Amino acid sequence: RSKEKGGNSYHYYHPDMNKRSLHRLNLEVHLRKALERGEFEIYYQPIVDLRHGSVIGMESLVRWQHPDWGMVSPTEFIPLAEETGLIIPIGNWILKQSCMQNKEWQQKGLPPLVVSVNISAIQFHQSNFVQTVMDTLQESGLAPDRLCLEITENVAMNNVPYIIETLQKLKVLGVRLSIDDFGTGYSSLSYLKRFHVHTLKIDQSFIRDISSDEDNAAIVTALIAMSRQLKIKSLAEGVETMDQLHFLIAQGCDEIQGNVFSKPIPASDFEHLIKNNKQLYVNI
Ligand code: C2E
Ligand code: MG
Ligand code: MG
Ligand code: MG
Repeated sequence: RSKEKGGNSYHYYHPDMNKRSLHRLNLEVHLRKALERGEFEIYYQPIVDLRHGSVIGMESLVRWQHPDWGMVSPTEFIPLAEETGLIIPIGNWILKQSCMQNKEWQQKGLPPLVVSVNISAIQFHQSNFVQTVMDTLQESGLAPDRLCLEITENVAMNNVPYIIETLQKLKVLGVRLSIDDFGTGYSSLSYLKRFHVHTLKIDQSFIRDISSDEDNAAIVTALIAMSRQLKIKSLAEGVETMDQLHFLIAQGCDEIQGNVFSKPIPASDFEHLIKNNKQLYVNI
């Protein structure tokens, strides 16, 4: 480490830092090839309607199966994909795959399902995003109302005119919209109605200790009540226990997603689950 390079060079030569940037570089090199090598797979997590206890849709969650490293978590590679711009081709592939899969299940005679696809802010802010969604729907033949786009509150933070215009176009197209990880970002509540949001996904951090933490219980209760007033569906994410489930049912939550019913599973397992008509309320 040369002193004359000044304070910043310290970071550059720090052994931990070096290891980390090497790891990052290595990950990036592999991520660039993962798509063409067919290393991505979509898992589906059932979304259950609490009125009937039946599956009404699924969230599409990408998995990266690296030949040597095994499964790499999306929380690790999605941020890198966003930084490098790789999220565009990867995200387009995920969207197309999810729409085609849902269409295929429809053609096989499965009950109507809405597939929810996570959309990164980078994707959403591409000027051709709406066109990409239109093209994907056309290519797959999926009806627009069988597709839900999940965006986080932070997408809605800057460049509001562009967002309103984009969301208006998507509304005209007929696709659904949900706000993911609700309550963890920065947002003003006023946009919920203005943006024609269909579903508010209450972040799992509020659900986790719902039975023991009074504050989180109060927040979840308030969010469910507010959604109802705004005629927006409420969905609780990451529901793991029967206690949490009973609490949510008592509060009138509309939908749940979580390990209490099923974790995210490969497409073939999901199809099996639907064909066997797995119901929530037989577990209670
Ligand atoms: P998310 O969109 O909020 O997805 C929900 C996460 O909660 C998933 O983690 C899911 O496996 C996990 N989960 C579901 N039920 C439970 C539960 O009962 N308990 C616990 N502890 N966790 C549960 P996953 O699949 O690891 O994805 C993490 C995040 O990575 C996602 O959060 C999303 O932000 C991002 N992500 C995943 N797939 C995609 C994708 O296809 N595109 C984009 N842009 N982001 C994605
Ligand atoms: Mg999501
Ligand atoms: Mg979420
Ligand atoms: Mg999340």
